[in-house]
Amino acid sequence: MKIVLIGIQGAGKSTQGNKLSKKFQVPYLSSGHIFREITKEKSKLGRWLKETVNSGALVPDDTTLEIVLTYLERPEYKAGFILDGFPRTLTQAEAFNGSLDKVIYIKVSDKEALWRISGRDDIREDETLHALRQRISLFHEVTEPVVTYYRQKDKLVEINGEQSVEEVFQSIIDNIQS
Ligand code: AMP
Repeated sequence: MKIVLIGIQGAGKSTQGNKLSKKFQVPYLSSGHIFREITKEKSKLGRWLKETVNSGALVPDDTTLEIVLTYLERPEYKAGFILDGFPRTLTQAEAFNGSLDKVIYIKVSDKEALWRISGRDDIREDETLHALRQRISLFHEVTEPVVTYYRQKDKLVEINGEQSVEEVFQSIIDNIQS
């Protein structure tokens, strides 16, 4: 099972991604997590990525494609994956020929997402209000075209993310299996 999760930060992608990973017995992978790991390295790339990630800007497409596609070549992702945060631009979607089963778009309003994140008590270093607003506005600008792209390819499943965790999960399962 190869699934991509799309949605603004706070939509519940990692919660649902981990549940889907258990259900389908394939690993969950987040591009944001891959980048955050590299930011810990004391290298030029590490320092540059830290600045980019913390600002809420997107990592340029060429760097993202090189890092994420190399990662996906690992044997543990051969049978499938639940991928969160990639592809995020049309260029990435076009370059990613991942023979995907489904692309799940978890929809919540900007207001609901900001509300949810501000209520968390495990806020990360890159989750300043400025960075969050920047990511949400970039989502509308550059990731919504990715949603349209997969809708045209008949891969898209749209889920109302403003339900309970279990209701969202059940909607995803019902839609995948229909
Ligand atoms: P996330 O945890 O998905 O919100 O990602 C955190 C940060 O990692 C983003 O703000 C970007 O700087 C970077 N990032 C993650 N995925 C991508 C991607 N597909 N393309 C570009 N930048 C990304």
